[in-house]
Amino acid sequence: MVQTGKNVKNFKEGDRVAAETHVPCGHCYQCTTGLQHICREMKILGVHVNGAFADYTILPVVCAWKLDPSISYKIAATMEPFGIGVHALSKTQPAGKTVVVFGSGPIGIYAQVVAKMSGAEPVIAVDIKEERLKLAGKMGADVLINASEKDVVQEIYQITGGFGVDIAVELSGSPAAVKNAGRVLRRGGDLVFVGLFSGPVELDLTNDIIYKEANVYGITGRIMWDTWWSAQRMLLSGKLNLDPVVTHEFGLESYDKALQLAESGTVGKIIFNI
Ligand SMILES: [Zn+2]
Repeated sequence: MVQTGKNVKNFKEGDRVAAETHVPCGHCYQCTTGLQHICREMKILGVHVNGAFADYTILPVVCAWKLDPSISYKIAATMEPFGIGVHALSKTQPAGKTVVVFGSGPIGIYAQVVAKMSGAEPVIAVDIKEERLKLAGKMGADVLINASEKDVVQEIYQITGGFGVDIAVELSGSPAAVKNAGRVLRRGGDLVFVGLFSGPVELDLTNDIIYKEANVYGITGRIMWDTWWSAQRMLLSGKLNLDPVVTHEFGLESYDKALQLAESGTVGKIIFNI
């Protein structure tokens, strides 16, 4: 932080901060009932207001998270997406449960890491890109399934002894994965949707949700600041190393190359070093 506005009280020049990207209005029903992250008037940093792909950026003080001194800037830059992984599992109780995460992009991997750290056994990662599955394996997934080569539903029923999974987390944004997530869920299991889709998608509500009495959760962003506290405690525990999820670092001048690489869907997190 190089400068603070005149009304800012709790931060000062030189403070190290990470940014919550959801900018809440502070006045709506959600904001006044502890649900700032789903504010009705929410602005998103980098979408509705200028983002951080710049030498300097203006951060509303309501979105500033003071970093613990031991957290590196590299990890700090990934606390926002890591927080989505933390929030994704927050409605469930993964200890001793089977968890499948569809999508091994960076946030899918974060969710998988949180499930593992919370005691899930086993954690199954599903993706269609070998590079990403490799990273998922490196980050501790117990079982890797390439959905372009294997029948995911059959594989998962085999792994779980015909039982189905306790918790399915959808982070791929693929309509095929939604169907599979419903199909592999055990009766009474938790189905968590986090990945975004370009349009409506199909799910067998009768068989995979209603008859199963599935608990369905939609997850977006991070709870302010509950998720951030949890994310920081996990990072400070020394029990996880998220460094390998950042597979590439670029200077801002290489943004074109960085964005192309991100779109290829074969890499982990890419960060810009200013
Ligand atoms: Zn609001």
